Amino acid sequence: MKTIIVQADRGVLCEDDLNTAANILRSGGLVAFPTETVYGLGADALNHEASKRIYKAKGRPSDNPLIVHIADPKHMERIARDIPDKAFKLAEVFWPGPLTMILNKKDIVPFSTTGGLSTVAIRLPASGIAKDIISRSGGFIAAPSANVSGKPSPTRAEHVIADLTGKIDMIIDGGKSTLGLESTIVDLSSEEPIILRPGCITKAMIENVIGNVKYDKAVFGKILDEDIKPKAPGMKYRHYAPEGCLTIYEGNIENVIAEINKKAKEITEEGKTVGIIATEETKGLYSYGNIKSLGPREDEDSIAAGLYAVLRDFDDIHADYIFSESFARGDLGQAIMNRLLKAAGYRVVKA
Ligand code: AMP
Ligand code: MG
Repeated sequence: MKTIIVQADRGVLCEDDLNTAANILRSGGLVAFPTETVYGLGADALNHEASKRIYKAKGRPSDNPLIVHIADPKHMERIARDIPDKAFKLAEVFWPGPLTMILNKKDIVPFSTTGGLSTVAIRLPASGIAKDIISRSGGFIAAPSANVSGKPSPTRAEHVIADLTGKIDMIIDGGKSTLGLESTIVDLSSEEPIILRPGCITKAMIENVIGNVKYDKAVFGKILDEDIKPKAPGMKYRHYAPEGCLTIYEGNIENVIAEINKKAKEITEEGKTVGIIATEETKGLYSYGNIKSLGPREDEDSIAAGLYAVLRDFDDIHADYIFSESFARGDLGQAIMNRLLKAAGYRVVKA
C-alpha cells in the first residue's frame, strides 16, 4: 500500500491535506496524526471494518480495546450511556487534554473497537490538527498509538514512518508530541473511579475534581504475575519495549552511577553495545556506553517528553543492554516509572 506522508507547518495542516485525511477516514482507511500525548493511528471508530484494520496494521491483539477520540464534549453522550456526574465534571476540567474516561458503551460502538467489552474509552485531545481531523471525519475516531504493537509509542513522525509506512494510507507529520506519554485512563463505568493508566493528568489533579480515586493494582504491580489482572486489557502486554535488555537501577544516585559504570564497562569489554539513560546532572559521570540525557532530574515534563524517543534511539544503534537511572515517583513521576518499568519487563536492581 502506498502511504501518503504530509507535513504540517508550525502546527497547522493545509486544507487540502485535512480533506485528504478526512476522506480516507470516512471511507474506512487509516491515518496517523499527531496529538499532544503521542501519535495516534486513526480509523472510523463506528466502522467495524475500519477498526479491524487498525489491529492488523499494528499487529495489536484483538482483545486490546481502542480509545475513541472526539472533538466535541457533547459527543460523549452519543457513544456512552449511564454517564455519571463525575465524568461530566472531569470532562469540563480536563478536556481538551490527556484524559481518557471509560464509560458504558452504546450499541452504536462496535465490539471490534472495544475489544469485545461493553465499555468504551473516550478522549478529547487538545491538538488542533487532531481535533480538525476528528470533526471532519464524522466525529468518532479510534486512535491507539501509531506504533507496531509492543514497541515504544511514537512521539515523532519519524517513529510512525519507521513502523507503519506501507501499512496505512496516510501519515501526518506535526513535529514532536509535546507531552510524550499516553493519556491518563480513569474508569468511571462502576461506582468507584479507578485509574487504569497513570499519565500527565495526575491522581491528585483528578481527586481535586471528583474526590477519592484508586490506582488499579496492575499499575505498579508486576502484571506478568498471574494473579494480577489489569482492568485495561492493554496493560497486560509487553509494552514500550526497546530491543535491548533494559534494566533500571534504583537507590542512592552515587551508588546507581557506580553500579551502572561497572556493568557498562564489563559489557562494553565483551564487545556489546550499551545505552545509558541519564539526566543533565549525571550524564558527565558515566565513562562507558552511549549516554543520553532526558533533561534535568527535576524537570519531569522533559523526562516524560523524551523517554520514548531515547528508547527508540537505542534501537537505532542496536543497543544490546540499556541501563537507566530511576526517577522520583512524584506526580508525573508515577507515569514515567509505570512506562519505564514495563519497558524493562520489571527488571530493577537495587544499587
Ligand atoms: P493506546 O491507544 O495504545 O494508548 O492504548 C489504549 C489503552 O486503553 C489500552 O491499555 C487499553 O487496554 C485501554 N482501554 C481502551 N478501552 C478500554 C476499556 N473499555 N476498558 C479498559 N481499558 C480500555
Ligand atoms: Mg499503545
